[in-house]
Amino acid sequence: MVLLDGKKTAQDIQLEIAEKVKCLKADGKKTPHLAAILVGGDGASLTYVNAKVKACEKVGFESTLVHIDATTSEEDLLNKIDELNNDDAIDGFIVQLPLPKHIDEAKVTLAVSPRKDVDGFHPENIGKMCLNLPTFLPATPNGVLEMLKRYNIETSGKHCVVIGRSHIVGSPMSILMARNGNPGNATVTLTHSRTSNLKEICATADILIAAVGRPLFVTADMVKEGAVVVDVGIHRVEDSSKKSGFKLIGDVDFANVSEKCSHISPVPGGVGPMTIASLMMNTLSAIELK
Ligand code: NAD
Repeated sequence: MVLLDGKKTAQDIQLEIAEKVKCLKADGKKTPHLAAILVGGDGASLTYVNAKVKACEKVGFESTLVHIDATTSEEDLLNKIDELNNDDAIDGFIVQLPLPKHIDEAKVTLAVSPRKDVDGFHPENIGKMCLNLPTFLPATPNGVLEMLKRYNIETSGKHCVVIGRSHIVGSPMSILMARNGNPGNATVTLTHSRTSNLKEICATADILIAAVGRPLFVTADMVKEGAVVVDVGIHRVEDSSKKSGFKLIGDVDFANVSEKCSHISPVPGGVGPMTIASLMMNTLSAIELK
């Protein structure tokens, strides 16, 4: 079994980006600048945003963290987004999800300028992705693609099963895997909470991508011998043996599934770091698209 080491792969990507940033600086060009808006922020969101800011430092980007109070109004947040849309110093920005319940995520997604939407969530960018046009690809699915590419996993003609149809992970993942490209050209089955015979369908997958948001949901009996398994899920569960009091686990029962598959991504250290690397790639391309 080969471990799809997202941590190591993300480090490689960050080194490559750092080299490109050095060249940009040497040529007197603008240093890429990523901003992140965090509204309120439970422990997990704060950790994710801090990891993104830290990654900017590593690759030589400038970064700005806009931390807004959880009680901020939707209007104030939209005004802040407008400010960043019109700030020439900022090349791309993200609004960390989830948002407090009183704020409409769809409105927020639409408010971010497609030119600065480095998370790749805006409908214009999703549309371009579907049409295979150059654009910002959604960070997590693109991180998975990059991981498959760097591990030379053949996707063409393979049966890929994606579990979960969210707008930010499962649905774009299924489109990217089916697109005419490399990685891509897979025959894709997109499954979700209303899918009948989920177990049987998963067991036919050459490539199984779990983005279901349920801890240890994918068990060994759902996996074909020799399959490639990508675990997108992240869950914090209590663990008194850890200093922090918790540990991270995924959507896949790693201990048992890893005995059956040819490749598997771990949690932590799999798709998580690749998502951040993908965000860095998008921010660099924000400069290049300009
Ligand atoms: P979501 O809750 O928006 O979507 C989950 C999807 O799973 C839904 O489409 C639902 O239909 C499907 N589902 C739920 N129960 C099911 C069942 N019993 N059978 C089949 N399908 C079922 O979640 P999301 O935002 O797509 O995230 C999924 C997971 O990935 C979460 O654990 C999240 O924390 C994690 N995540 C990780 C990263 C990363 O960088 N690694 C990024 C985003 C999300």
